Amino acid sequence: MLSPVFTAACQVIDLSHAYSAAAPHYPGDRPIERRQAGTRARDGFLDYRLDMAEHCGTHLDAPLHFAENGLAVDEIPLTQLMGPLVVIDISARAQHDPDAQIEVSDITGWTNRQGALPSAAILVMRSGWSRRWHDAARYFGSVNGSHHSPGWSLAAITHLIEKTDVVGIGVDTASIDPFIAADFPVHRAWLGAGRWALENLSGLEQLPEQGGWLVAAVARITGATGFPARVFAFVPNQKKP
Ligand SMILES: [Zn+2]
Repeated sequence: MLSPVFTAACQVIDLSHAYSAAAPHYPGDRPIERRQAGTRARDGFLDYRLDMAEHCGTHLDAPLHFAENGLAVDEIPLTQLMGPLVVIDISARAQHDPDAQIEVSDITGWTNRQGALPSAAILVMRSGWSRRWHDAARYFGSVNGSHHSPGWSLAAITHLIEKTDVVGIGVDTASIDPFIAADFPVHRAWLGAGRWALENLSGLEQLPEQGGWLVAAVARITGATGFPARVFAFVPNQKKP
C-alpha cells in the first residue's frame, strides 16, 4: 500500500502489460520461453531462465536499434527516461481506421488546446489498441497475411525532431511505425535523431491529456538495442478549490 502522503498527492498508473508466453509477439518473432533452472528439491530455491526478444511486451527502443552509433539502453541517461507526459489521442479515428496515424495537426491541435509542449516531454499515442492485447490477430490487425495498426506519421516525427525537444515517444500498439509503412521510416528518423521510444503500452485511457509524469524503468542491460520496461505514470490529484 502506498504511503498516505503519496496517495494524497498523486495516483500511480501502470502503463505496462504483463509478460508471458501467451502475450502477443511481433510477427516473425517467437513467444517468450521460460525454463526452470533452480528447483526447491535440488537447490533449495526456485528460479527460471527466460528466452525472450529484447523487443517483447512493453519495452523501450534505444537509438542503437536503428542507428549504427546510437546509444544503447544502458547509455541513455536516467534523467531522460522520465519526464512530463503528453497524450495525443487518435482513438476516435483509429476505431474506424486501423491505419490511422498521428499527423502534425494532432500535435498542433494539442498545443492549441493546452499551450506549448512542456520541455523534455514524452509524447504517447492513445489509439485504444491495448484493449486488443489478448487477441493477437486483432492486435496486429491481421487480414489475409497483412497487418494493420496505428502509429506515428513521418511528417509528425519530423516536426517533433525539427521543432521540439521531446525526448521520447510511445504507442499502445506494437510499433511506432504504422504497420502499413514500409522499411520503418519512423523508427529510422526518430531513433536516428538519438531519441527513444516505448511500444506496447497499456492503460493510457486512465491518463489526462497533460499534467502527468512518465517513468520508463528499464533494466540497464549493456549494449541492448531495447528491453522490457516497467512503465508507469504519476498523475497529480486535482486540488480541491
Ligand atoms: Zn521495439
